Amino acid sequence: MLDSVLLALFLPCLGMSAVFIVYMCLLWYATNHHSDPALPAKPVSDTGISPSQLDKLPRITGKDLLMGNECAVCLDEIGTEQPVRVVPGCNHAFHLECADTWLSKHPLCPLCRAKLDPSLFSSSQNPC
Ligand SMILES: [Zn+2]
Ligand SMILES: [Zn+2]
Repeated sequence: MLDSVLLALFLPCLGMSAVFIVYMCLLWYATNHHSDPALPAKPVSDTGISPSQLDKLPRITGKDLLMGNECAVCLDEIGTEQPVRVVPGCNHAFHLECADTWLSKHPLCPLCRAKLDPSLFSSSQNPC
């Protein structure tokens, strides 16, 4: 009689322990295998433009500006002698430093958010 009572108490405990061990194993497996895809999730388009790629973008001076002379990054006026970076495609212009700082973090036009075409960087310096 006592044996069966002990057994009745022991079996659920054993079951609980087994469930607990399986749960811990699953948790360990999940943490070990979930950490991998969480890290490199950054899409390529979110990384900015490298300095060498920035060099390939059109660069003019303030007096060559065709439309507007206000920099949308710092909201300051672009002087006629200041270096200006033009975003290819939408042709928006910004101070060279303002545009390069922004573009090194985001591959977009700071004003209209037009994406910079990656082919601009690969095709412009063909050796032939
Ligand atoms: Zn500026
Ligand atoms: Zn633009």
